[in-house]
Amino acid sequence: MPERIGVYVCWCGGNIADIVDVKDVAKHAAEVPEVVVAKDVMFACSDEGQRTMVEDIKNLKLDCIVVASCSPVLHEQTFRRVAERANLNKYLYVHVNIREQDSWAHQHDRKGATEKARELVGMGIEKLVKSSPLNPIRVELSSKVLVV
Ligand code: SF4
Repeated sequence: MPERIGVYVCWCGGNIADIVDVKDVAKHAAEVPEVVVAKDVMFACSDEGQRTMVEDIKNLKLDCIVVASCSPVLHEQTFRRVAERANLNKYLYVHVNIREQDSWAHQHDRKGATEKARELVGMGIEKLVKSSPLNPIRVELSSKVLVV
């Protein structure tokens, strides 16, 4: 069960940070006992953002990470590869969407959007705390067919 969690809250330039108080979200996440490091990062998907995560995983011996950023459609695979490059099980990474599902959806409610981001990140952390690492399996296929 993961015990050393890293949390990264992306600014996406102003796409997220103009609405969501990302520093407050990271500060709130840092209060969870299992969270070893919580940072706000300007562009999590940039080379620098990815390098920061890989270095933290190795240097701080993190056993899982949460990235709060855009839709997982865009960058879930990016951050799974970050985990793999740091020799972490790629399924011990949780993607939290605070852009499409938060900052873009609540542009006229900064306080509410920040509160929602805190909750979403908190749920991501809780999901990891209760997670076990998954491992891909190979399943032999049969050429038989069942019609129901
Ligand atoms: S990870 Fe997503 S939210 Fe963050 S900078 Fe890249 S595109 Fe923007």
